[in-house]
Amino acid sequence: MITITNIKTYPVRIEHGNQLIIKIETSENGLYGWGASGLSGRELAVVGAVKHYAHFLVGKNVLQIEAHWQEMYRSQYFEGGRVLTAAISAIDIALYDIKGKLLNVPVYELLGGKQRQYVECFASLKFESKDELMTKAQTLKQEGFNCIRLYEASEGPEPYVARKSMANLVAWLPDLRKEMGNEMTIGMDYHHRLTLPETVSFVNRLPLGTLDFLEEPLRDENPQVYQELRKMINLPLALGEEFASKWQFWPYLKDNITQYARVDVCNVGGLTEAKKVAAIAETNYIDLMPHNPLGPICTAATLHLLAASPNVAWLEEINTPVEYCGTNSEMFYTKQPVLEGNHYQVPSGPGLGVEFNEALAKKATFEIKEPPHLYKKDGSFTNW
Ligand SMILES: [Mg+2]
Repeated sequence: MITITNIKTYPVRIEHGNQLIIKIETSENGLYGWGASGLSGRELAVVGAVKHYAHFLVGKNVLQIEAHWQEMYRSQYFEGGRVLTAAISAIDIALYDIKGKLLNVPVYELLGGKQRQYVECFASLKFESKDELMTKAQTLKQEGFNCIRLYEASEGPEPYVARKSMANLVAWLPDLRKEMGNEMTIGMDYHHRLTLPETVSFVNRLPLGTLDFLEEPLRDENPQVYQELRKMINLPLALGEEFASKWQFWPYLKDNITQYARVDVCNVGGLTEAKKVAAIAETNYIDLMPHNPLGPICTAATLHLLAASPNVAWLEEINTPVEYCGTNSEMFYTKQPVLEGNHYQVPSGPGLGVEFNEALAKKATFEIKEPPHLYKKDGSFTNW
């Protein structure tokens, strides 16, 4: 029996952001796996959770992935929660990497086999002005992207005024649609910044057909509020990037509240949980549009999931010809999937197909980095 011998955590600054990478070592010489956690901004909490899990996982069989998932999710009596599922995700992905390497197959072979040759991406487009929006969109179209997903740069310290943002977008987006034509799919991510009445006002002021989907206008704790919104607007929704289990997805998928599932493999509970979310989504013909903001381990794990899933729209891509975020730094990731135009080939080697520079990570620094904190004019807090 091959057993888990060690679980190492590497919270590291890579370019402008932090990433939490884990390495699982095994009793087989040279056999190890890489995983990543998606709880950006609270990496040290996840490091602590991984330590708790390592306490009982060391000595266990590397092949029993779902048995370990069940034990991690349920063993503290207090089940689930975002910190814990972010830790479970990293461990689960690393165990899939190990199993693929051991059996000498790509991870998609462990998920049912390959259904597609490549995976198309939507380009994330961040903008502050109309000029920036139009110029970046034109470049992305020329580079071959057939879907762009917009989001406003709102990082403070100026107060966030939803009505101002809505007024700008209502003025700019119809021109963007004219420029892009009808073959381009255009979505807008509102990052949980609006209220229900603000969202309805925004959508009502846009000419029908301007946008193809709206991502996360509201906070998500209460699915009933989204159910109300669903009845009040005539625009598909894309939700779920922060959901931390199939149970959180369940009301949104079973009642068709969301039209795209924004599953995040590094937050939802790894590949073990993501493939179940994919199956629940499939029952209502809902396509996956995975969240992918982290780095090559998240990208690769998601590519294997999408290769083996029938219901796929686009994978998110944040390093595009108009914005380099550096999350895929070649210094840190010496082997990784490579974006070709608007798509990735499905990795064909054993395991995930990613190699992380552990020696560099050991020397790298980690500093706590807060996501932007936004405030309204009156000084009260609002979501970034
Ligand atoms: Mg989003």
